[in-house]
Amino acid sequence: MAAKVDQDTCIGCGACVGACPTGAIALNDEGKAQVDADTCIDCGACVGVCPVGAVTLD
Ligand code: SF4
Repeated sequence: MAAKVDQDTCIGCGACVGACPTGAIALNDEGKAQVDADTCIDCGACVGVCPVGAVTLD
């Protein structure tokens, strides 16, 4: 499991990048959040801070 970002919904605000305790999220070349599944620990911190609900755990 890992957090997933809906690329169409993400507005690239970076809130999740700052919230992630393991540094698993970065903004990609298109300015959208991208999760490194190997680094993600499924804590859900990013889900709570995203202002547009783009992040989910599955
Ligand atoms: Fe995108 Fe949400 Fe992360 Fe902001 S918090 S960069 S809108 S996924």
